[in-house]
Amino acid sequence: MASGREERVRENLSKQVAPALHIPDAVRVGVIACSEEHELWLQAHLMACEGCRAPLIAMLLKRTAVGMGRPPEVICAKARDVMFRYLEGGAEPDDATFAHIASCDLCDDLFFEPAQAVVLQEYEPEHVGEVD
Ligand SMILES: [Zn+2]
Ligand SMILES: [Zn+2]
Repeated sequence: MASGREERVRENLSKQVAPALHIPDAVRVGVIACSEEHELWLQAHLMACEGCRAPLIAMLLKRTAVGMGRPPEVICAKARDVMFRYLEGGAEPDDATFAHIASCDLCDDLFFEPAQAVVLQEYEPEHVGEVD
């Protein structure tokens, strides 16, 4: 049914060993420094880029079961840096980083919100069967 599309996505994924290397350094540095302009760029990028979204969604699905009783132990800049490494194919963020991203409004907006928004959109009935 979803003939060509899934195949194309899979093809793309296999080509993208380090999917996020196309995020410019300036954006990465800007986001770590909490520059709003760069935060907006990243949010838009995550909405549009399946390669970057996939690891975020994988992380969300895997971690929702983990209880987060602890307050964030890391600062935004540190947590964001770890997230970028993860998006670039690095190690999965540790619990402290995940707890920070999930419980910090600013960081949650930045990484998880765009990814979740797209997932929700895809499940909305009016979008079913739509191929872009
Ligand atoms: Zn991307
Ligand atoms: Zn934060």
